[in-house]
Amino acid sequence: MKRITIAIDGHSSCGKSTMAKQLAHELGYIYVDTGAMYRTVTLYALREGLFSPDGHLDEKRLQQDMQEGRVRVSFQLNPATHLPEPCLNGEVVEGSIRGIEVSGRVSIIAALPFVRTSMTAQQQQMGREGGIVMDGRDIGTVVFPHAELKVFVTARAEVRAQRRYDELMAKGQPAAYEEILANVRERDYIDSHRSVAPLKQADDALLLDNSDLTREEQSQWLLEKAREAMAE
Ligand code: C5P
Repeated sequence: MKRITIAIDGHSSCGKSTMAKQLAHELGYIYVDTGAMYRTVTLYALREGLFSPDGHLDEKRLQQDMQEGRVRVSFQLNPATHLPEPCLNGEVVEGSIRGIEVSGRVSIIAALPFVRTSMTAQQQQMGREGGIVMDGRDIGTVVFPHAELKVFVTARAEVRAQRRYDELMAKGQPAAYEEILANVRERDYIDSHRSVAPLKQADDALLLDNSDLTREEQSQWLLEKAREAMAE
């Protein structure tokens, strides 16, 4: 069967990564979480103090640091889970990028054209041979507009916030439901309204609203669509 490119885009916290990861595992494909890349750049900016206390970002410094190779984003395979984990300058940062601090700033970083140009080029390079499941916001519209299968995932904001809350609690990370709900809504807004590569459903993407689906139902649906696309 053909080794295709599968693009999974959609709103924040609707389980894209979980479903993309599982699908990649089932097909023996590479999985790339592009949100983790933007989160990693955001972690760099936070660590370097590039955000002032009022939230203003020193864009110039970030651009310079990126141009001069001080912000290297990569993935490393976790030997135990066999899943790729994001690295910042060689350091695995998976455990530091999912909290509210990074979530609260990432959409600002992801709206910067020079950040997007750099991440998009890297993503296209990673997927140049197919056999890949990539999730994000602009994979089916910008990164791989010719992907053989495109899925746009959404769910009600309250359902998404609850899932993110449960996920953080399970990891023992502090979380407040109302704050997460506000963050989910804010990120959707910024992601959908930015001028470069805004979040939107590609014309040829299949829509999946998983508000009322079990994980099992969702996986079945996705696997079926993938098999159909691979057989074409
Ligand atoms: O997928 P995740 O929620 O981890 O992504 C974090 C943020 O990264 C999103 O809210 C969005 O601002 C940005 N992002 C993006 N383009 C992508 C993936 C993520 O702008 N392809």
